[in-house]
Amino acid sequence: MLRQYELVEKVRDYDTSADEDALNRAYVFSMMAHGHQTRESGDPYFSHPVEVAGILADMRLDGASIITGLLHDTVEDTDATLEGIEEQFGPEVGRLVDGVTKLSRLELQSENTKQAENFRKLLLAMSEDIRVLLVKLADRLHNMRTLHHVAKPEKRVRTASETMEIYAPLAERIGMQALKDELEDLAFIELNPTARASVVERLRYLREEGGDMITRIVERLQKTLAEAGIEAEVIGREKRPYSIWRTMQRKNVGFEQLSDIVAFRVVVDTIPRCYETLGVVHGTWPTVPGRFKDYISTPKPNGYRSIHTTVYGPEHQRLEIQIRTREMHEIAEFGVAAHWSYKSGDPTSAVRDGRQYRWVRELLEILEHAAGPEEFLEHTKLEMFQDQVFCFSPRGDIIALPRGATPVDFAYAVHTDVGDTCVGAKINGQIKPLRTILENGDQVEIVRSNVAAPSPTWEQFVVTGKARSRIRRFVRGKERDEYIQLGKAIVERAFVQAGFESTRKAIRRACEVLGEKTPDDLFAAVGDGRITGTAAVGAVYPEAVEGKPGKGKATRGKKDGGSAGDHAIPIRGLIPGMAVHFANCCHPLPGDRIVGIVTTGKGVTIHTIDCDMLQQFEATPERWIDVAWTVDGETAELHVGRIHVTVSNEPGTLGTMSTLIARNNGNISNLKITNRSTDFFDMVIDVEVRDVKHLTNVIAALRANPSVNSVERSRL
Ligand code: MN
Repeated sequence: MLRQYELVEKVRDYDTSADEDALNRAYVFSMMAHGHQTRESGDPYFSHPVEVAGILADMRLDGASIITGLLHDTVEDTDATLEGIEEQFGPEVGRLVDGVTKLSRLELQSENTKQAENFRKLLLAMSEDIRVLLVKLADRLHNMRTLHHVAKPEKRVRTASETMEIYAPLAERIGMQALKDELEDLAFIELNPTARASVVERLRYLREEGGDMITRIVERLQKTLAEAGIEAEVIGREKRPYSIWRTMQRKNVGFEQLSDIVAFRVVVDTIPRCYETLGVVHGTWPTVPGRFKDYISTPKPNGYRSIHTTVYGPEHQRLEIQIRTREMHEIAEFGVAAHWSYKSGDPTSAVRDGRQYRWVRELLEILEHAAGPEEFLEHTKLEMFQDQVFCFSPRGDIIALPRGATPVDFAYAVHTDVGDTCVGAKINGQIKPLRTILENGDQVEIVRSNVAAPSPTWEQFVVTGKARSRIRRFVRGKERDEYIQLGKAIVERAFVQAGFESTRKAIRRACEVLGEKTPDDLFAAVGDGRITGTAAVGAVYPEAVEGKPGKGKATRGKKDGGSAGDHAIPIRGLIPGMAVHFANCCHPLPGDRIVGIVTTGKGVTIHTIDCDMLQQFEATPERWIDVAWTVDGETAELHVGRIHVTVSNEPGTLGTMSTLIARNNGNISNLKITNRSTDFFDMVIDVEVRDVKHLTNVIAALRANPSVNSVERSRL
């Protein structure tokens, strides 16, 4: 255990302005408060806060943080009060101790379901003062270091998984690599002792086999650099078992290469020296292609900067080398905590300064929009474990996104409004689909429209939590509205068709009989197909529908000439993909005669009235509803029409066809060649058009071309 004077000296070593008197008083206060309490190890309890304070001093944190480390358990576990602490140590320490105490209380009631909620509060607390999180992380680190003393295995496992899932990723996100590595490895010991033992054993073997290879390489690197006139500190450090284990899993292979287990670091004094060092290293040993990364000019979002490269070294093994300045090295090891060593004055300025902590605000934004803790944890876990891509806005701002991100993610990362109104994207100057996966260095310009709204289909391809939660929120809100709107229309028409009026009284009666709380609940249930319109009428007038299951069935075109009846439900204004879906078999277009088929829980699928697929619904007439396009005014939406085309196999034919389609304002959304012979191509083309008339124009234009053999609209 650190003695009082050792701790004070340790702090004074890096912070000469630290309040020595306050540190001494805090040490004594904590010792008195914890008195004879002991830990599970049998050690006096007081050793814990002292060790936590020591860890914080290793991070070179300010005096208030060290004092908070000493006092962090006194309010929760002893007779000490927050008021008393404030009185003796001032409001700043009072606030910090309060924050840590609150987090510890959350931890005590931590059950699996509570985890995400705790995490949420943890973040909320840290967003006020990041030092609260730093003390909490130091507390967790010491508890993990002493975890083997805890008697109950299930408690050890719970603490270890919580560390792996929540605290280690948090440490990483604030750039505290060394802390993150140690937390993960300590958790690994508990969670997968067999795997860890095998990694440790293999490491031991490699070390024996290679002799003193690491020292030899360090000396060789140092000598080579010295000969080039570069003064550098070279460190060769074995990676931790957990990080080796992760690499093995990622590559799905065992580890043999030195570069899998040791990272060499070259620390120099200036940025130009970094590049000079790189030049010497690359000039001396052959490089391994594709392994060079310049995080100096493009730092990671957590502030990490370094040059990474891998070369075939002096003994022909792969060497992974990280080149950085002293300051970068400190930040790489201590992350946000390192800012205290470099920035004097108000420590909270480091917390609030700029984009480095933008992810905190982003997470908070997700919290506000997420439906529940599970959804939130899913988002954050997703984001924390993925690699990143860096893209540029037209103004040159760097936007960091997880790998696999699309222009929609980019748009939401720029601003919620930009995401909500995006309709297209230019990537490096070219129009590209919104589902395009972005790559490092892409310049992305978002095309926006004021009338646009998030599309439910985006959810299938976005990868950022921010975009997904925003789209989900929109869809959730919108979906019920759509079901209500559709259900209301269905119910009203069912009443009229049965010869009644859907008065408020009748609707209320139907709600009572069918067990729905409000008319909107009833309409939503009808809209999504759980209750039929006929059943709603039957609830009020049982005699009207008895023995007439076909009542309310849509008038089928083949039987009455296909005129949409007066009772047809207009589908305009409903967003495809929510309450209304367009069938993939017949691709109905505005102008087609159509019918709706109700699917429980999904709403209505629209088919053309002559679609062959309708046969399978002959036996369930209650699922049919009359629907009609509403043709007033301009329909902004485009629909996909599908055509079968046979063209002669000549050079340039495909080009001519796409030109013809484009000239008629059609947009090819998909093209598939189904048959290719020496003289002809058969293909299926999906064309986005306004309506049937529009598609007919496109077809006519294609037919007029001499190299086009036949064009037919596809029904299947
Ligand atoms: Mn503690």
